[in-house]
Amino acid sequence: RTAVEITTEALERIQALEPKLHSFLHVTADYALETARQVDDKIAAGETIGLLAGIPVGIKDNMCTQGIPTTCGSRILENFVPPYESSVTQKLKTAGVVMVGKTNLDEFAMGSSTENSGYQVTANPWDTSRVPGGSSGGSAAAVAAEECVVALGSDTGGSIRQPASLCGVVGMKPTYGLVSRYGLVAYASSLDQIGPFARTVEDAAILLGAIAGYDPKDSTSLNVEIPNYWKLLQPNFAPRGRLRIGVIKETFGGGLDSEVEEKVKTAIEMLQYLGAEIQIVSCPTFGYGLPAYYIIAPSEASANLARYDAVKYGIRTEKADNLVSMYKATRAQGFGTEVKRRIMLGTYALSAGYYDAYYLKAQKVRTLIKQDFEAAFEKVDVLVCPTSPTTAFKAGEKTDDPLSMYLSDLMTIPVNLAGLPAISVPCGFDSQKLPIGLQLIGKALREDLLLQVAHAYE
Ligand code: GLN
Repeated sequence: RTAVEITTEALERIQALEPKLHSFLHVTADYALETARQVDDKIAAGETIGLLAGIPVGIKDNMCTQGIPTTCGSRILENFVPPYESSVTQKLKTAGVVMVGKTNLDEFAMGSSTENSGYQVTANPWDTSRVPGGSSGGSAAAVAAEECVVALGSDTGGSIRQPASLCGVVGMKPTYGLVSRYGLVAYASSLDQIGPFARTVEDAAILLGAIAGYDPKDSTSLNVEIPNYWKLLQPNFAPRGRLRIGVIKETFGGGLDSEVEEKVKTAIEMLQYLGAEIQIVSCPTFGYGLPAYYIIAPSEASANLARYDAVKYGIRTEKADNLVSMYKATRAQGFGTEVKRRIMLGTYALSAGYYDAYYLKAQKVRTLIKQDFEAAFEKVDVLVCPTSPTTAFKAGEKTDDPLSMYLSDLMTIPVNLAGLPAISVPCGFDSQKLPIGLQLIGKALREDLLLQVAHAYE
């Protein structure tokens, strides 16, 4: 089929499903068809095209796309049209990928259900009364519902893996620094990482290969050789012999849904059946990840969000008579409740007198968590645990209780604090036919091994 045919099909599906799902904030139909036409012209001219050319993709709306609105799910950026392209979308453009639209997210990627979007609530395609997870819920739902083939999300504390788990698709957070953050609207810069959503591990491997690699525009970008992740999946990797997989003991405690536990344990048995050696490992400080994250992430966010001052970007209120009241009124009007909560938490944690008690202590906990992972990876090659403690919850169920919402990321957050790669791969359904995800965590830069193990399993 031609790229135009494939794109038209995706656009028709978007048109049919969007009234129910609300995965997209902007659908870029004309732009997509034009890109697809260019790919078809290249094929007609006998030029060789890459694996991703002509493939419909969704982009989380916190990645800047030149000339195309980028709202970050926030009203404060309602009118923002970036004058430049993020490095990841530039790479995809060069590869001939067809962007069909910008996907919905929790405002500034703060949330676990996509209900914090300033524009719309995205539904889970498996049960539209439930959330798709978050913050990259739009990307996860769009891939699950086949509105696009693959999508990009960002993961600061679980925002790719948790929605992938809740929507029954593959989602991967790469090693910190593997994928450029240039043009990604910053939430918590020491944790943010862009990664792929796909319906198969193979597709995720191809998309990761296309976005990974050194970028001089991002000072935290790693200058490393990028393997051909996709090629390394063939022939199908059998983890026979010496692959050691560690089950993180602490993730099977209270709060874990019994059906999730059962399916994850069955998946671990399957890995053993495939030839892996299974060990139980302990990460004693894993449980402190969540409290440390909710000091570190809001602290960084409070600094990053200071730039929305009604001068450089976004909206400006009419209701102000001097500079300070303009700042105040615009921020009061433009930011949602959760964003304001994070700014206040972060400003408090960083203020003189409290810095040592909160921020410094959280950074020390972060070091301990890193050391826990290092100790575990002396014994095993890959760690395994559930991605999310529950399956998709009902819309509205946790909106008034931020703490219970924060608990959604209990098992994903430690990975960001340590900068490690991790993938969520579907591992069955609960009795209500809601998808469950298995999380595989690797050593830094071992995306290749994670993808191989996930591919052997799926
Ligand atoms: N749910 C977490 C938060 O609200 C993680 C979000 C993310 O990874 N962007 O901060």
